[in-house]
Formats: sequence, structure tokens, C-alpha cells
Amino acid sequence: MSDTWRADQDPIPVLVMAEMDHGEVLIVGAGPVGLTLAIDLAWRGINVTVIEKRAAAEPPEPKCNHVAARSMEIFRRLGLAEKVRNAGLPADYPHDISYRTTFTGCELTRIPIPCRRDRFTSKHGPDCNWPTPEPPHRINQIFLEPILFEHAAAQARIHIVNRALVEDVSIDDDSVSVVVRDLETGSARRASYRYLIGCDGARSVVRKAIGAELVGDAIVQRVQSTYIRAPDLIRRQNCERAWGTGVINPRRAGMVYAIDGRERWLIHNYMSPGEIDFEKVDRDACIRTILGVGADFEYDII
Ligand SMILES: Cc1cc2nc3c(=O)[nH]c(=O)nc-3n(C[C@H](O)[C@H](O)[C@H](O)COP(=O)(O)OP(=O)(O)OC[C@H]3O[C@@H](n4cnc5c(N)ncnc54)[C@H](O)[C@@H]3O)c2cc1C
Repeated sequence: MSDTWRADQDPIPVLVMAEMDHGEVLIVGAGPVGLTLAIDLAWRGINVTVIEKRAAAEPPEPKCNHVAARSMEIFRRLGLAEKVRNAGLPADYPHDISYRTTFTGCELTRIPIPCRRDRFTSKHGPDCNWPTPEPPHRINQIFLEPILFEHAAAQARIHIVNRALVEDVSIDDDSVSVVVRDLETGSARRASYRYLIGCDGARSVVRKAIGAELVGDAIVQRVQSTYIRAPDLIRRQNCERAWGTGVINPRRAGMVYAIDGRERWLIHNYMSPGEIDFEKVDRDACIRTILGVGADFEYDII
């Protein structure tokens, strides 16, 4: 893009705020990717500003559930692997994947994956012999992100600006400028950096600004996700607990993830090919079908 922003055309005040002018690099988004990148850049001696629309320590949505071996290796280099490994599900909670007719129904098969207590000693899992010092880890984003945030916030080279929304991005040959709205006061300001990195998730403003477009199938599977609290669910299972439970039946297929190993679950309802409108799908009925529970079963949507 070459539409350089010009002060005489724009009513937004040109303020490279002292608090935001921290280094040459701006990262938009303090999710797992933005925070990890900021920590990595700081580790390499580079000052960086991170702008995030959420408040500091505001919990993320429970999206990312699984951290790959390569990501764990990066956390190891950054001195974070042990903390990440020790968080998430209880130490003895199996990281298995179980396939069942319903969550509370018959088990069809199971992929054994060691709980974190046995991660480095067990030989019973498909990833137990991988040539890596850091095998994969099952941990939800709600537990992963606070570890990354705490570490990033403690780095002198990282400046995190929370409750700030990047609304617009303009790029020229030598720099990039962004319009940032302070979500507390409502005021907007413009700031310039040499480098801008978009870590702002699926609806990325930065992606749109650089004209990056998806190539390939936009939709592989429509999924209606619901984060619930259901303390009674864990004991209703007919088999050993699992981190992920794939539910396979002709009525309603889905996936259920154990989030805290006690009462919180993420339920993915796999929409049928004809179901394109999320609002028209009976969420409650689908959840009960996937879980295999009746109308008397109690749960809260978080
Ligand atoms: C239901 C579900 C399950 C998933 N399961 C997995 C999984 O198991 N493993 C996996 O690797 N991935 C999974 N994903 C994908 C997951 O969302 C990403 O892996 C993960 O969230 C990527 O982190 P991120 O930092 O790139 O983005 P995000 O976590 O989306 O973070 C982006 C951040 O940018 C901020 N932001 C956005 N726009 C702006 C703006 N304009 N100004 C300021 N801040 C902004 C947001 O507030 C957010 O904090 C799942 C996704 C969903 C929806």
C-alpha cells in the first residue's frame, strides 16, 4: 500500500505518544502469537510495543487448546516451557483422545497421550518417541496466555498498551502509521513505527491493510462452539477421562474438550452441510445430543 497518511487530510491528531513510542516495532494483538513474538524480539535485544484491545489480564476466549512440539521448543528457548508444561489440566488428567457414540455413551476407540505428570517417562503414546526435548502439550489458551502475558509484561524491552484498538493502518516506503483508539477515553491518536506486525487474530485489521487474502477453501467445516460449566459431567462418563472426546453418531457429531479437568468444557458442534445459519441451530438440543444427556442435565454457558 502506498496511501501514506497526510496530516493535512486527517482530523486525527498526530501524536506519537511517549508511552507508545517504544522501539521501532509495533505488534498489534497480545494473544499467544503477539506475546510470544514480543518476548522473542525482546530476547534478541529489540524494543517492542504491543497494542491490545482487551484490558490487562482480561481472560481470552478459550480457543487454542493444543500447543505443538515446535511451539513448546520455542517456549523452551525463551525459558517458558516448564511453566507452560506445568499449567492447564491437573497433572494426572489423561491427555488422551477418546472417540465415543456420545460423551456419556460407549467408547469406540482411544488414542493414549500421557498426562503431564508422565509426559517425559511414558512410552504409551504416538508422540512419545518424537525426537524433541519438548513434546506437544494440551493446554487451553485461558491458561497459556496469562503465563505469556506475565513474562512479557516483566520485560523492560516490551511495552504493552491495553484497552487500545488499532483502527487503521497506512504503510509507506519507510514506515507505517496506525490510528489507535483509547478504549477508556474514546480518543484516537496516530503513531508511527518502522515495522508493524499483525498478530490480531482472525479478523485482522493488519491483514486487510496489506491486502493479504485467503487462498483455498474458506470453509472446511462450520463449528458452533460453546464454553460451558457442568460440574456433574465428569462423573457421567462411562470410561476413563480424556482431554478431547470425539463424538460420532448420525444425529450430531462434535468434539468436547476438557478445559480445567473439573467442570469447564468446550463443546464443538459440527454443523451439518445444510446448516449454514448458526442462529437457526438449536444450540441446547445439539449440546445435549453430543453429551448424551437429557433435559434434566444442568449446565451454564460461560
Ligand atoms: C474454537 C476454536 C478452537 C481452536 N483450537 C485451536 C487449537 O487447538 N490449537 C491452535 O493452535 N489453535 C486453535 N485455534 C485457533 C486459535 O484461535 C489460534 O491458534 C490462537 O488464538 C492464535 O493466537 P493469536 O495470538 O494469533 O490470535 P488471538 O488469540 O485471536 O489473539 C489476537 C489478539 O489481537 C487482539 N486484537 C484483534 N484486533 C485488534 C485490534 N485491531 N487492535 C488491538 N488488538 C486487537 C485480540 O483482542 C486478541 O487478543 C482455535 C480457534 C477456535 C475459534
